[in-house]
Amino acid sequence: MSRNMIAGNWKMNTLPSEGTELAQAVIAANSKPNCKVVFGVPAVQLAQIKELTSKHDNYFVAAQNCHHEDSGAYTGEISAPMLADLGIDYVILGHSERRDYFGENDELIAKKVRKVLDNGMLPIYCCGEKLDVREAGNHEVLVGQQIKTALFDLSAEDFGKVVIAYEPVWAIGTGVTASPEQAQDMHAYIREIISVQYGKEVAARTTILYGGSMKPANAADLIAKPDVDGGLVGGASLKAELFKDIVAAG
Ligand code: PEP
Repeated sequence: MSRNMIAGNWKMNTLPSEGTELAQAVIAANSKPNCKVVFGVPAVQLAQIKELTSKHDNYFVAAQNCHHEDSGAYTGEISAPMLADLGIDYVILGHSERRDYFGENDELIAKKVRKVLDNGMLPIYCCGEKLDVREAGNHEVLVGQQIKTALFDLSAEDFGKVVIAYEPVWAIGTGVTASPEQAQDMHAYIREIISVQYGKEVAARTTILYGGSMKPANAADLIAKPDVDGGLVGGASLKAELFKDIVAAG
Protein backbone atom coordinates (compact mmCIF):
# COMPACT_ATOMS: atom_id res chain seq x y z
CA MET A 1 0.00 0.00 0.00
CA SER A 2 1.42 3.38 -1.04
CA ARG A 3 2.40 5.83 1.68
CA ASN A 4 1.63 8.72 -0.63
CA MET A 5 -0.92 11.40 0.15
CA ILE A 6 -1.82 14.87 -1.10
CA ALA A 7 -3.74 16.88 1.48
CA GLY A 8 -5.24 20.30 0.89
CA ASN A 9 -5.54 22.78 3.72
CA TRP A 10 -8.21 25.30 2.81
CA LYS A 11 -7.66 27.18 6.10
CA MET A 12 -10.37 29.86 6.65
CA ASN A 13 -11.15 30.11 2.92
CA THR A 14 -14.09 29.10 0.71
CA LEU A 15 -17.77 29.47 1.52
CA PRO A 16 -19.99 26.47 2.14
CA SER A 17 -21.71 27.31 -1.16
CA GLU A 18 -18.34 26.98 -2.97
CA GLY A 19 -16.65 24.05 -1.25
CA THR A 20 -18.48 21.13 -2.84
CA GLU A 21 -17.83 22.47 -6.34
CA LEU A 22 -14.10 22.84 -5.59
CA ALA A 23 -13.75 19.32 -4.21
CA GLN A 24 -15.92 17.90 -6.97
CA ALA A 25 -13.74 19.47 -9.67
CA VAL A 26 -10.61 17.88 -8.15
CA ILE A 27 -12.31 14.49 -7.93
CA ALA A 28 -13.62 14.73 -11.50
CA ALA A 29 -10.13 15.49 -12.82
CA ASN A 30 -8.40 12.67 -10.93
CA SER A 31 -11.10 10.04 -10.71
CA LYS A 32 -8.64 7.29 -9.76
CA PRO A 33 -5.73 8.97 -7.96
CA ASN A 34 -2.53 7.00 -7.24
CA CYS A 35 -2.40 8.47 -3.75
CA LYS A 36 -4.80 9.28 -0.95
CA VAL A 37 -6.35 12.73 -1.40
CA VAL A 38 -7.51 14.65 1.64
CA PHE A 39 -9.55 17.87 1.76
CA GLY A 40 -8.84 19.82 4.96
CA VAL A 41 -11.87 22.07 5.08
CA PRO A 42 -13.43 24.67 7.40
CA ALA A 43 -15.55 23.11 10.16
CA VAL A 44 -18.82 24.30 8.68
CA GLN A 45 -18.10 22.32 5.48
CA LEU A 46 -17.02 19.03 7.04
CA ALA A 47 -20.40 17.32 6.67
CA GLN A 48 -20.93 18.28 3.04
CA ILE A 49 -17.39 17.34 1.95
CA LYS A 50 -17.61 14.06 3.87
CA GLU A 51 -20.82 13.27 2.02
CA LEU A 52 -19.00 13.84 -1.27
CA THR A 53 -15.74 12.01 -0.49
CA SER A 54 -17.52 9.00 0.95
CA LYS A 55 -18.78 8.21 -2.55
CA HIS A 56 -15.23 8.00 -3.97
CA ASP A 57 -12.32 5.66 -3.24
CA ASN A 58 -9.13 7.31 -1.98
CA TYR A 59 -10.71 10.70 -1.15
CA PHE A 60 -10.98 11.75 2.48
CA VAL A 61 -11.87 14.74 4.62
CA ALA A 62 -9.86 16.39 7.39
CA ALA A 63 -10.76 18.86 10.11
CA GLN A 64 -8.17 21.58 10.71
CA ASN A 65 -8.21 21.36 14.51
CA CYS A 66 -10.10 19.97 17.48
CA HIS A 67 -10.26 20.61 21.21
CA HIS A 68 -8.33 18.42 23.66
CA GLU A 69 -11.37 17.62 25.83
CA ASP A 70 -14.35 15.49 24.83
CA SER A 71 -17.01 18.04 25.85
CA GLY A 72 -17.64 20.89 28.25
CA ALA A 73 -17.89 24.64 28.67
CA TYR A 74 -15.54 25.62 25.84
CA THR A 75 -17.59 28.08 23.82
CA GLY A 76 -16.85 27.98 20.12
CA GLU A 77 -14.77 24.78 20.22
CA ILE A 78 -15.27 21.46 18.44
CA SER A 79 -14.36 18.12 20.03
CA ALA A 80 -12.91 14.95 18.57
CA PRO A 81 -16.08 12.93 19.36
CA MET A 82 -18.11 15.47 17.37
CA LEU A 83 -15.81 15.06 14.37
CA ALA A 84 -15.85 11.29 14.69
CA ASP A 85 -19.64 11.33 14.81
CA LEU A 86 -19.61 13.08 11.41
CA GLY A 87 -17.32 10.37 10.03
CA ILE A 88 -14.31 12.63 9.64
CA ASP A 89 -11.19 10.71 8.60
CA TYR A 90 -8.22 12.95 9.54
CA VAL A 91 -7.54 15.92 11.81
CA ILE A 92 -4.72 18.35 11.01
CA LEU A 93 -3.00 19.23 14.31
CA GLY A 94 -0.23 21.61 15.27
CA HIS A 95 -0.26 23.73 12.13
CA SER A 96 2.18 26.63 12.54
CA GLU A 97 -0.75 29.07 12.32
CA ARG A 98 -2.35 27.33 15.33
CA ARG A 99 0.99 27.51 17.14
CA ASP A 100 1.60 31.18 16.28
CA TYR A 101 -1.87 32.73 16.47
CA PHE A 102 -3.50 30.51 19.09
CA GLY A 103 -0.55 29.71 21.33
CA GLU A 104 -0.56 25.93 20.84
CA ASN A 105 2.50 24.03 22.02
CA ASP A 106 3.59 20.43 21.70
CA GLU A 107 2.21 19.42 25.11
CA LEU A 108 -1.27 20.62 24.14
CA ILE A 109 -0.99 19.12 20.67
CA ALA A 110 -0.02 15.77 22.24
CA LYS A 111 -3.35 15.79 24.11
CA LYS A 112 -5.21 16.50 20.86
CA VAL A 113 -3.35 13.68 19.09
CA ARG A 114 -4.51 11.32 21.87
CA LYS A 115 -8.14 12.44 21.49
CA VAL A 116 -8.09 12.06 17.72
CA LEU A 117 -6.72 8.51 17.99
CA ASP A 118 -9.09 7.58 20.83
CA ASN A 119 -11.97 8.59 18.59
CA GLY A 120 -10.87 6.45 15.67
CA MET A 121 -9.54 9.25 13.44
CA LEU A 122 -6.03 9.82 12.09
CA PRO A 123 -3.87 12.83 13.02
CA ILE A 124 -1.87 14.81 10.47
CA TYR A 125 0.79 16.26 12.76
CA CYS A 126 2.48 19.44 11.49
CA CYS A 127 5.99 20.41 12.51
CA GLY A 128 8.62 22.73 11.12
CA GLU A 129 11.12 25.42 11.95
CA LYS A 130 11.10 29.20 11.50
CA LEU A 131 13.72 30.93 9.36
CA ASP A 132 15.98 32.00 12.23
CA VAL A 133 16.18 28.43 13.47
CA ARG A 134 17.17 27.15 10.03
CA GLU A 135 19.71 29.93 9.59
CA ALA A 136 21.26 29.00 12.92
CA GLY A 137 21.47 25.38 11.74
CA ASN A 138 19.14 24.12 14.50
CA HIS A 139 16.28 22.90 12.31
CA GLU A 140 16.78 19.18 12.90
CA VAL A 141 17.03 19.64 16.67
CA LEU A 142 13.85 21.74 16.74
CA VAL A 143 11.78 19.47 14.50
CA GLY A 144 13.07 16.40 16.34
CA GLN A 145 11.97 17.96 19.63
CA GLN A 146 8.51 18.79 18.25
CA ILE A 147 8.01 15.21 17.10
CA LYS A 148 9.40 13.59 20.25
CA THR A 149 7.30 15.76 22.59
CA ALA A 150 4.01 15.46 20.71
CA LEU A 151 4.22 11.87 19.43
CA PHE A 152 6.81 9.64 21.02
CA ASP A 153 4.70 8.73 24.06
CA LEU A 154 2.38 6.87 21.68
CA SER A 155 2.49 3.09 21.38
CA ALA A 156 3.95 1.78 18.12
CA GLU A 157 0.44 0.79 17.05
CA ASP A 158 -0.91 4.30 17.60
CA PHE A 159 2.15 5.97 16.11
CA GLY A 160 1.56 3.88 12.98
CA LYS A 161 -1.68 5.82 12.42
CA VAL A 162 -0.04 9.25 12.44
CA VAL A 163 0.80 11.21 9.28
CA ILE A 164 3.62 13.74 9.74
CA ALA A 165 3.69 16.96 7.74
CA TYR A 166 7.05 18.73 7.69
CA GLU A 167 6.25 22.36 6.98
CA PRO A 168 9.15 24.81 7.27
CA VAL A 169 7.40 27.96 8.47
CA TRP A 170 9.53 30.12 6.16
CA ALA A 171 7.98 28.31 3.18
CA ILE A 172 4.31 28.53 4.19
CA GLY A 173 2.36 31.00 2.11
CA THR A 174 5.57 32.79 1.10
CA GLY A 175 6.10 31.41 -2.40
CA VAL A 176 9.51 30.19 -1.22
CA THR A 177 9.68 26.40 -1.37
CA ALA A 178 12.27 24.21 0.34
CA SER A 179 14.45 22.65 -2.31
CA PRO A 180 13.85 18.96 -2.94
CA GLU A 181 17.23 18.32 -1.25
CA GLN A 182 16.31 20.36 1.85
CA ALA A 183 12.99 18.51 2.08
CA GLN A 184 14.64 15.11 1.57
CA ASP A 185 17.29 15.81 4.22
CA MET A 186 14.69 16.68 6.85
CA HIS A 187 12.35 13.83 5.89
CA ALA A 188 15.24 11.35 6.09
CA TYR A 189 16.12 12.73 9.52
CA ILE A 190 12.49 12.38 10.67
CA ARG A 191 12.34 8.80 9.39
CA GLU A 192 15.61 8.06 11.18
CA ILE A 193 14.37 9.24 14.59
CA ILE A 194 11.15 7.26 14.06
CA SER A 195 13.28 4.22 13.28
CA VAL A 196 15.28 4.65 16.48
CA GLN A 197 12.09 4.98 18.55
CA TYR A 198 9.75 2.48 16.86
CA GLY A 199 11.92 0.38 14.54
CA LYS A 200 12.61 0.25 10.84
CA GLU A 201 9.26 -1.22 9.76
CA VAL A 202 7.16 1.48 11.42
CA ALA A 203 9.51 4.13 10.02
CA ALA A 204 9.26 2.71 6.51
CA ARG A 205 5.44 2.75 6.66
CA THR A 206 5.10 6.30 8.05
CA THR A 207 3.71 8.88 5.64
CA ILE A 208 5.79 12.08 5.80
CA LEU A 209 4.36 15.00 3.80
CA TYR A 210 6.14 18.18 2.76
CA GLY A 211 4.25 21.48 3.08
CA GLY A 212 5.25 25.00 2.07
CA SER A 213 4.36 26.67 -1.24
CA MET A 214 3.91 23.37 -3.06
CA LYS A 215 2.64 24.01 -6.59
CA PRO A 216 2.24 22.02 -9.81
CA ALA A 217 5.66 23.33 -10.93
CA ASN A 218 7.57 21.91 -7.94
CA ALA A 219 5.40 19.05 -6.66
CA ALA A 220 6.82 16.28 -8.84
CA ASP A 221 10.45 17.11 -7.99
CA LEU A 222 9.69 17.20 -4.26
CA ILE A 223 7.66 13.99 -4.30
CA ALA A 224 10.32 12.21 -6.39
CA LYS A 225 12.60 12.28 -3.34
CA PRO A 226 12.57 8.91 -1.58
CA ASP A 227 11.41 10.14 1.83
CA VAL A 228 8.87 12.70 0.60
CA ASP A 229 5.50 10.93 0.47
CA GLY A 230 3.35 13.77 -0.78
CA GLY A 231 2.28 17.21 0.27
CA LEU A 232 0.19 19.33 2.57
CA VAL A 233 -0.91 22.14 0.30
CA GLY A 234 -2.36 25.50 1.34
CA GLY A 235 -2.81 28.18 -1.31
CA ALA A 236 -2.72 25.86 -4.31
CA SER A 237 -5.46 23.66 -2.83
CA LEU A 238 -7.97 26.48 -3.31
CA LYS A 239 -7.87 26.28 -7.11
CA ALA A 240 -9.01 22.99 -8.63
CA GLU A 241 -6.84 23.46 -11.72
CA LEU A 242 -3.72 23.70 -9.53
CA PHE A 243 -4.61 21.12 -6.92
CA LYS A 244 -5.60 18.50 -9.49
CA ASP A 245 -2.11 18.68 -11.02
CA ILE A 246 -0.48 18.29 -7.61
CA VAL A 247 -2.71 15.26 -6.98
CA ALA A 248 -1.60 13.86 -10.33
CA ALA A 249 2.05 14.24 -9.20
CA GLY A 250 1.30 12.33 -5.98
C1 PEP B 1 0.04 25.22 4.78
O1 PEP B 1 -0.42 26.20 5.34
O2 PEP B 1 -0.07 24.09 5.30
C2 PEP B 1 0.74 25.41 3.53
C3 PEP B 1 1.58 24.50 3.14
O3 PEP B 1 0.46 26.57 2.84
P1 PEP B 1 1.03 27.03 1.40
O4 PEP B 1 0.96 25.80 0.50
O5 PEP B 1 0.14 28.10 0.95
O6 PEP B 1 2.44 27.44 1.61
